[in-house]
Amino acid sequence: MPTTRRFSQDPAGRPGAAQTTVKAASSPARQALLKLGLARDIDLALHLPLRYEDETRITPIASAREGASVQIEGVVTGSQVQLHPRRQLVVTLQDASGSCELRFFSFYPSHHKTMGVGVRLRARGEIRGGFWGRQMLHPVVKGASAELPAALTPVYPTVAQLPQAYLRRAVATALARVALPETLPAELAPPALVFDSQNGLQRPWGLRDALTFLHHPAPDVALAALEDRSHPAWQRLKAEELLAQQLSQLAARRERDQLAAPVLRPAAGAAALHEQLLAALPFQLTAAQHRVVEEIARDLAASRPMHRLLQGDVGSGKTVVAALAACVCIDAGWQCALMAPTEILAEQHFAKLIGWLQPLLADRGRGVAWLVGGQRKRERAAMLEAIADGTAALVVGTHAVIQEQVQFARLGLAVIDEQHRFGVAQRLALRKKLLHLGQEPHMLMMSATPIPRTLAMSYYADLDVSTIDELPPGRTPIVTKLIADSRKDEIVERIAAQVGAGRQVYWVCPLIEESEALDLSNATATHQELSEALPGVQVGLLHSRMPAAEKKAVMEEFKSGRMGLLVSTTVIEVGVDVPNASLMVIEHAERFGLSQLHQLRGRVGRGAAASACVLLYSTGDSGRLGETARERLKAMAETNDGFEIARRDLDIRGPGEFLGARQSGDALLRFADLAGDTGLLDWAREAAPIMLERHPELAAQHLERWLGGKSDYLKA
Ligand code: ADP
Ligand code: MG
Repeated sequence: MPTTRRFSQDPAGRPGAAQTTVKAASSPARQALLKLGLARDIDLALHLPLRYEDETRITPIASAREGASVQIEGVVTGSQVQLHPRRQLVVTLQDASGSCELRFFSFYPSHHKTMGVGVRLRARGEIRGGFWGRQMLHPVVKGASAELPAALTPVYPTVAQLPQAYLRRAVATALARVALPETLPAELAPPALVFDSQNGLQRPWGLRDALTFLHHPAPDVALAALEDRSHPAWQRLKAEELLAQQLSQLAARRERDQLAAPVLRPAAGAAALHEQLLAALPFQLTAAQHRVVEEIARDLAASRPMHRLLQGDVGSGKTVVAALAACVCIDAGWQCALMAPTEILAEQHFAKLIGWLQPLLADRGRGVAWLVGGQRKRERAAMLEAIADGTAALVVGTHAVIQEQVQFARLGLAVIDEQHRFGVAQRLALRKKLLHLGQEPHMLMMSATPIPRTLAMSYYADLDVSTIDELPPGRTPIVTKLIADSRKDEIVERIAAQVGAGRQVYWVCPLIEESEALDLSNATATHQELSEALPGVQVGLLHSRMPAAEKKAVMEEFKSGRMGLLVSTTVIEVGVDVPNASLMVIEHAERFGLSQLHQLRGRVGRGAAASACVLLYSTGDSGRLGETARERLKAMAETNDGFEIARRDLDIRGPGEFLGARQSGDALLRFADLAGDTGLLDWAREAAPIMLERHPELAAQHLERWLGGKSDYLKA
């Protein structure tokens, strides 16, 4: 009950009461400030209100309308504790125009006195009408002695340990004290300086102007413009923020360009490893694969570290591109690491790459090493040795690859699959694996979740992007159907038919938010049910809690084709490759994100057989699927294009899905909104290089202001 707390923190009419509260809360409050990242004056000055309260005027009680949030002032003419229907303190406040009852359900005996008869009070809250006259429930109450503020009162985002009053004071002090030199050179005026001629807003908004205004706006401001952040003061701030973001990425990129990386030139002739691999492959590369291989090869041959994102829809064939890059690296005498987010995925890469590369590497006296979490000690020790002495030319694994004990002899290239599933810290750790030679490895990040253009331009401005925009030939498009889960029986028949025809089927169980245990019991029950409904079909179960060895055994069975149906939680989400699988059933599809559904769907349609994906949806108690849920699922049925789906997902869910760990913990954009502020983003993209070029000191100052110590995160 926030109202109760507010009242007890700021007890009525006690002079200096608020001061005492602040002192008492000083230490935990200060800690809370730090936790919110509000360490420097500038951080506080940039901590902007969520909303405002109007304490600038007093409304005569008689003219306060029901439902309105108002501030009234008067003298207490009655104060008593009522016991029925609920224990409560009822205070009657009277001004020249009328009276109003203030009711408190939670109060201390002292309040009875501080709001005693004859005391003059100010109360702020929502007016309720009612037969018995006007009332306010749990109003915020203050002594009436203070002057009315001239500006709206800011309400800041805060946490429990940090009282609003304390935070307000901290922000106000910081704002008054902080130096806010302008960092935007006149030639780079943001579009926010072009003003709206209505509202009398035709003056240049400097940073200080904008901040002062946003913390303490005049009471006559158009609140709507403040709320939707279209007000020029907001625009000015968002422009600053976007510029900082672009600058930091550009700066990170230039810094990286100064670093040395091994020059990896492809060997020439038929004896080159990559030529041998191409000759051994059972297929021809697509034109798109050729193109991205070229782009990567060009980067590898340069002496600055590559930092490239390889994006391509599910099934577009990124793995072989990575393998070819690895070949170039290995031929040049260096090691390549390939890191995948899950063991299953790492395993698959391993199986394929070993199949492709091991015979070729063996001829050269080198091999492939494999590192995962639950490995046996002896095996692991042998792997570590091979990695350290350089005989392991290729190292495949999970997070185990970046552990400290893993010492590469000469890591030249690191490939990160499903990069958005890895944290920034992990990517940084990988980069550091080569520092002992005074160099940086080249980095290739792969993603099947295509990043929409606006995001690529803003969050990934420091990355080079290669895109595989075509699928290998011979794939039949996946047909996607939406079916209500009341028709499960039909689906079971369909599964039986597919398995009867020698095909295989995935059944994905729903994600139950925040409960792995429930996920599990649900998957187990479904497994049981389907086993009973499909006698004669081998039905397997895969979930995230299973020991690695067991997972592996289940995957083996499925891959071998003996297992007809695999029931699983979302552990199969990424990268599993069984071309004989032709039907995917996703239960409670309405609970998944679009990109996630797309990834899941990509598990089928990998062979030549016609494939289908059934999105089972549950209508719940209402008997119908909500409008947005229907829209989203319809989008899935309408297109197989991952980019189109990503675009729609961005519209529906915002950028979180795509950014992964990059933005976790510190949202890099607090104020600007990529979808809404494209004009400002364009400006910032143009301004950043000019600023670095012509005004490097201002650029540094600007970055320091906005990012302080956080810019490290942008380098990964
Ligand atoms: P993803 O991009 O989703 O990681 P994979 O690399 O797993 O896709 O490739 C999907 C499947 O397509 C694999 O079986 C792979 O061997 C196969 N493949 C890759 N490139 C081609 C190609 N040019 N022609 C035919 N099949 C290909
Ligand atoms: Mg893949």
